[in-house]
Amino acid sequence: MTPGTQLEPNSQPLISGRNSTFTPSLDTVQQVDNHEREFRRASQSKSERWTLRTPTKRDIVARLERLSAEDASRLKQCCSTFRVLTCGQHTLRAYPTFRCKKPFCPDCAAERANRLSRQTEAKIAEAMQTHKGRLCFLTLTTKNAATLDGGLSKLKKSFANFKRKKVFKNHIKGYFGAFEYTFNAKTNDFHVHLHLIILRGKFWNQSDISDVWRDVTGDSFIVDIREIKDAHKGVKEVCKYPMKPADLMKMPDDKFLEVVNMKKGTRMFISGGCFYNVKLDDADDAADDSIFSQFADLTEGDACPLCNEELFDLYVNRAQHIGLHELNAMPNLIKTNSS
Ligand SMILES: [Zn+2]
Ligand SMILES: [Zn+2]
Repeated sequence: MTPGTQLEPNSQPLISGRNSTFTPSLDTVQQVDNHEREFRRASQSKSERWTLRTPTKRDIVARLERLSAEDASRLKQCCSTFRVLTCGQHTLRAYPTFRCKKPFCPDCAAERANRLSRQTEAKIAEAMQTHKGRLCFLTLTTKNAATLDGGLSKLKKSFANFKRKKVFKNHIKGYFGAFEYTFNAKTNDFHVHLHLIILRGKFWNQSDISDVWRDVTGDSFIVDIREIKDAHKGVKEVCKYPMKPADLMKMPDDKFLEVVNMKKGTRMFISGGCFYNVKLDDADDAADDSIFSQFADLTEGDACPLCNEELFDLYVNRAQHIGLHELNAMPNLIKTNSS
């Protein structure tokens, strides 16, 4: 600035880097930075998850083949080929060309858990706009059962009686729950339990719940109730898959086959009261595996939002699919503002 030149009274001071004409481009760089970080983080964790699931899936397929169970080929085909939307450098979306949708498939179980928890969280938030109360996590357990079917039906019957109790209605305004089971290799039996998210009106203490639960089950009294501090985590906990696929490999053949041959359409979720509308769209066929929902609308021919190159579809196998996620470090990302 030459001496004697005065800024006009109303103009902004020209502070380096803060000039208003530069602001949009700085913001854009910032946005691209954030985008890149988010992309990289999600991409890495996705690749880790896939890498973890691969050996479990291989083991389950091998065992199905050995027992010549009918689902072996479906499971083997599931998530073996992917259609990938890419610019050659960034993988924006990847769909498996075929999904088996078996509850014991590690890939389909993970996808389903993800989708259901997103759905449920939104619906619970919606119900809570009109209903007041405390969101709590309630777990009801029953004694171990020799068969999965036996354990599940006993628990379902017990819960049906439990929710009919006046004391239940007095305390619980709404509930949403999922059945879960684990396998105990030592005792060779199933531990079936019910995880619920409840909207509690009046305070209800654990020992009173336990008494009522013992009353309806006849022999089980182990219950747990705690307030949910983080609704997102709470919902995730309930919507995670009904069984750890790794548990399958601990089972002897007869139990393994029992799980694998479980009747299609066996109900694993329940809801009622003000959460009655938290019905789950378990049969959603249109589910895709968008890495990020913000890229869900892109298709072949569109410009890559990260580098502007044209996007195209590519078919890859499972190993290449995992590799693509690992390659998504983006060294050549150009940080310029095109405007
Ligand atoms: Zn599958
Ligand atoms: Zn790109």
